[in-house]
Amino acid sequence: MRPLVMIPGPIEIDDAVVRALGRPPKSHLDPELIERFGRALERVRQVFQAPKGQPFIVAGSGTLAMEMAVANLIEPGDRAVVADIGYFGARMAEILERHGATVTRVTATLGSAPSVAEVAGAMAGCKVLAITHVDTSTAVRNDVRALAALGRENGALVVVDGVCSVGGEELLQDAWDVDVVLTASQKAIGAPPGLAIVVASQRALAAWRARKCKVASYYADFASWLPIMEAYEARKPKYFATPAVNLVEALDESLRVLLEDGVPQRIERHRRTANAFRAAWKALELTQLPTRVEHAAHTLSAVYYPSGIDAALVGAVRKEGVVIAGGLHPEIGGKYFRVGHMGACPAADVLNAVGAIERALAGLGYKPHGVGRAVAAAQAALFA
Ligand code: PMP
Repeated sequence: MRPLVMIPGPIEIDDAVVRALGRPPKSHLDPELIERFGRALERVRQVFQAPKGQPFIVAGSGTLAMEMAVANLIEPGDRAVVADIGYFGARMAEILERHGATVTRVTATLGSAPSVAEVAGAMAGCKVLAITHVDTSTAVRNDVRALAALGRENGALVVVDGVCSVGGEELLQDAWDVDVVLTASQKAIGAPPGLAIVVASQRALAAWRARKCKVASYYADFASWLPIMEAYEARKPKYFATPAVNLVEALDESLRVLLEDGVPQRIERHRRTANAFRAAWKALELTQLPTRVEHAAHTLSAVYYPSGIDAALVGAVRKEGVVIAGGLHPEIGGKYFRVGHMGACPAADVLNAVGAIERALAGLGYKPHGVGRAVAAAQAALFA
């Protein structure tokens, strides 16, 4: 039987999304493709809650989306601050530096997030404040709303890496006045990997237009893509570089499914699912990486192996029919595992994953209270 994929992206996807992928590729100038592309752009705006934002959908992964944000906003010599809560904060800092920025990383002890006051202390002269919403290496969540307000107070452009949050955590781009929110197709949005999705505010576009030097990347330049996105939204054909047509069709479907559920309803579902997993970790007497529940993401869990258990657990869970992920943070990679709980993630998948982990742990000799308590705890939390 096909295993259940419970990693923090790619995630399980809806059958309608799979069907969209399986169609023969259309011309990128086909009227039906143009309609779907235009609709996907409109739906991205709805999911990001950015009625005034400019969406970009470009073939590439989340890292390209990060680089698009940076390449278009940063000029050599600019100062940038990263509210760094793990591996992807470090990646953002690296990308900023590659594009010529002087970067201050405001970090926190592993498992927690920097306070607004700590970030405030680094903001002098900052042009771009980059915030990882949820860092997939730690399952820690930054307080985007408060940090975005800080960025605005200091006249900085605010960039949010929402790769592990858009569609799963509350994030109101316009209401919170965030300049760029970026994500990738394979996470809570529920499409396969392969699309970088970026929404830029009008202020971000104005900052890009006011640049003194050219954007260093030809492919990532807003100038390359803005006319294309505008054309597709106006339901007109236009070419810059061949779009990933099947992925765009799949994205359009996944956004439809998400919006039919409703964004607030999806956010609430992620909260409930995360609580069910937390109940299971507690029943198993396992410790999570996030040190405080306020910092703990709803889109994935990161959990330390108990004593006597190591990364062999991931393989043992796979034998039980569920795919989970090992650790990613360079300091403690071999000491913890991660479970993604993004997207539609029905109760059956939660219980399947918890059951597989509980059985695999027991098989490896770890069963603090016999077997079955974790599934019962998750079930009770789902029903609460
Ligand atoms: N940022 C975050 C928070 C992520 O979780 C990831 C992917 N796990 C990325 C950026 C990079 O995305 P990709 O792997 O699609 O390039």
